[in-house]
Amino acid sequence: MSEGERLTELAKRRGFYFPSSSAYGGAAGFWTYGPQGAALKSNIEDAWRDRYVVKEGHQEISAPDVMPEPVFEASGHLDGFDDMIVECGECGATHRADHLVEDNTDIEEAESLPNEEVMDLIAEHGIECPSCHTSLADQPVDNFNLMFETNIGPGSSSPGYLRPETAQGIFVEFPQLSEYARNQLPFGVAQIGKAYRNEISPRKSLVRVREFTQAELEHFIDPEEDEPPLAEVADVTLPLYSAAAQQSEDGGQRELTVREAVDEGVVESEWVAYYLGVSKEWYERIGVDMDRFRYRQHLAGERAHYASDCWDAESEVDGDWIEITGFAYRGDYDLSKHAEHSGEDYTVFKQYDEPITVERATVDPDMSYLGPEFGGDAGAVADGLEALAERNPDAFDGDEVTVEVDGESHTVPVEETNFSVNEVTENGEHIRPHVIEPSFGVGRIIYTVLAHAYETDEVDGEERTYLDLPPEQAPTTVGVFPLMDKDGMADLATDIADDLRAAGLSVTYDDSGAIGRRYRRQDEVGTPYCVTVDYESLEDDEVTVRERDTTEQKRLPIDGLADRLEQLASGDLTFGDL
Ligand code: AMP
Repeated sequence: MSEGERLTELAKRRGFYFPSSSAYGGAAGFWTYGPQGAALKSNIEDAWRDRYVVKEGHQEISAPDVMPEPVFEASGHLDGFDDMIVECGECGATHRADHLVEDNTDIEEAESLPNEEVMDLIAEHGIECPSCHTSLADQPVDNFNLMFETNIGPGSSSPGYLRPETAQGIFVEFPQLSEYARNQLPFGVAQIGKAYRNEISPRKSLVRVREFTQAELEHFIDPEEDEPPLAEVADVTLPLYSAAAQQSEDGGQRELTVREAVDEGVVESEWVAYYLGVSKEWYERIGVDMDRFRYRQHLAGERAHYASDCWDAESEVDGDWIEITGFAYRGDYDLSKHAEHSGEDYTVFKQYDEPITVERATVDPDMSYLGPEFGGDAGAVADGLEALAERNPDAFDGDEVTVEVDGESHTVPVEETNFSVNEVTENGEHIRPHVIEPSFGVGRIIYTVLAHAYETDEVDGEERTYLDLPPEQAPTTVGVFPLMDKDGMADLATDIADDLRAAGLSVTYDDSGAIGRRYRRQDEVGTPYCVTVDYESLEDDEVTVRERDTTEQKRLPIDGLADRLEQLASGDLTFGDL
């Protein structure tokens, strides 16, 4: 069994996740998190919130999953959120064309290639339909838009889409959000929520699904002035796989500190470098194995058109690298697009420390001249003159000035423009913030954390499977067992479980089967500590506490047990210290 298959088997058997709606045959790409998975997911989301919202001092919002069409016209998703699809001429199955090329050749990133080239590669390498093994040569490679469409209200006059990323819910509301931030840059807005993509070929359980949770942060900054607190993460070492290294013969991953990466220009944006540093520490905290982790820079053709520097955090499972987070410097692309399409103000007024006096060139064109001269174009000519005066006042130096309107040149005598240069006092200016976006896929992180936590060893001559999840992330912190359901042991164990729950710990009570089996069940879901009540406990008010990874056991008094377990779980105390 491959690592992924082993994990999917455990996930289903122990209630982490399983395919949805299977009573009706299911639908590929939809998964239900069971009790263990939902608890793990919620712990990972809490850890994300703690680091990226609370510690960073940002704000969190919750926007709708369905948004109207104009949002996605503006964002570019309607026209450009496509993947390459190829359909089998024999069985009709559809496949992601770039993935077929990656799976069957040495090419690592076929997404950036033009469709025709992908079609040629399919023919050249004799790539077959994975479903029926018929050759796919000469089958057209088309674009397929990944958004799920719906109708808002009855009828079809108001199309809407399930959001393909949570980010647009933040960008669209920028004017409001900026007001809440008292128009003070920098500020960050985060969101944890569902995103939907009608993936052509869902695969590898949680890795490529059609409905998934994203945790996204949009950090709005003044690009001229704001700098990240780089010193806080300057010494964090990053495993970096740059675009240059990916393209050179002998290039490999390099370990650089955040400071070195910035100084050497390997990571162009200090803001992106800052978030790489923050995230490296966060991944370690939640249990990603740093020997199976890297940051890979996007190749030029792979980068979204708006992003100037882009890195993905990638984890390794089964020998494949999976993108678990994207870090992008998105510039002012999103806010500009929404301003352009909605006509609303997507800027921030930046107040100067002191008012300044500047020379401003203005025009007040004589419409009684422009009207007869330019007819229906007169208004546009006037606007063109105004823009030109602001942009290039020298153009008004001669007797005539020429403006372009819709590709046509119009010449106007300068005296008819009433051109003048005046001194004005300004208190500030409107600027369009830039955005840095770390975008985390929660499902892929869960998949990674589980795969990296999966361990086997031998206990009492038997093979044991356990998840060495960090206690903070484990779905359950403590398993409580009575050795047997008699002589008051169950009552005492129930009381202890209640006390531990009252202290805020996540507790499972289990009284079925041999004690060894109960330990194994908790090991398989990563429960870090188990507490057993035995005959002696009834006499000495002590219980046996067992640690998951070492299987070591110690006797501890019931009095103060919750405190001890809390200290263990938070890392303030080690089992050896007890
Ligand atoms: P993107 O906007 O494509 O950069 O995606 C942001 C993050 O969402 C990625 O880093 C992934 O972790 C996650 N993601 C994207 N597509 C999927 C998918 N189909 N299934 C699961 N996670 C995804």
